[in-house]
Amino acid sequence: MTDKKIDSINVTDEMAKSIAVKSAELVALLKSVSHEFHDIQFASSFGAEDMVIHHAIHASNLGIEIFTLDTGRLPEETHQLIDATQKLYRQTIVPFYPDTKTIELYVKENGMDAFYDSLEMRKKCCHIRRVEPLKRALKGKGAWITGMRSEQSATRQALSIREFDEGNLMEKINPLAAWKEVDVWAYIKLNQVPYNTLHDKFYPSIGCAPCTRAVSAGEDIRAGRWWWENPENKECGLHIKG
Ligand code: SF4
Repeated sequence: MTDKKIDSINVTDEMAKSIAVKSAELVALLKSVSHEFHDIQFASSFGAEDMVIHHAIHASNLGIEIFTLDTGRLPEETHQLIDATQKLYRQTIVPFYPDTKTIELYVKENGMDAFYDSLEMRKKCCHIRRVEPLKRALKGKGAWITGMRSEQSATRQALSIREFDEGNLMEKINPLAAWKEVDVWAYIKLNQVPYNTLHDKFYPSIGCAPCTRAVSAGEDIRAGRWWWENPENKECGLHIKG
C-alpha cells in the first residue's frame, strides 16, 4: 500500500484554529527557551513530530542549532529526508556517528544483527549507536529539544513539556508533549511540511531499519519499534530518566 498518509488527514476549520493556537504556543516556547539557554540544541530523528519542530524553527527564524544521530543503520528514506530538510530550510544539520572503534569491536565480537539475540545486546547496540553519540552531541551545551509526545508509548505517559535530563545533566524541552497524533499531521498538512515516506507505508514511528517494521490497523504507534520486545522495554536509552 502506498496511499499517502497526508491524504487521509481531513483538517476541519475547528482543527485549523486549534493548530494555529498550538503553533503560536510552540513558537513562543521555542523562542523563550532559545533565550533562556545558551547553545540550546534540537535533536532531530526526522519523525513526523521532529518535522513540525524543524518547520517552526525555520518559519520563526529562531536559529536554534540542529543535530541528528546517524546510527549507521538508518533507513534510506530517513537519509533522503535529512538531505531534503537541510536543502529546504537551508540550515546545517550536524550528524553524529557511533565511535568507530567501539562499533567495530561490537560487530566483530557479536555479529551484524546481535540486537535480536537478547535485550542486553539490543541495549548495548543502542548505547553505542545512540546514547554515547548523544552525550557527545550535548557536551557543553545548555539544553536540548525533542519531538517526544506523551501518548506515544507506555514509557512516555508522564512526559512533561520541560524536565531535567539526569543522564545528560541539563534541561530537556519537549514542546509537543501534549500534542495528539492528529495535531502533528494536521500541522504537517496545513504547512506542507515534508515527512518520511515510510509514514505512507504504515510506519508511524521510525528508527533503525532492522529494528522498525510497519504496523497493522489498530496496533500501537510504537508497536513496530523493537517489535520482538515487551512495551515497557521500548526505549533506546536516550530518554530514560536517572
Ligand atoms: Fe542498534 Fe537497533 Fe538500537 Fe539501532 S535501534 S541502535 S540497530 S539496537
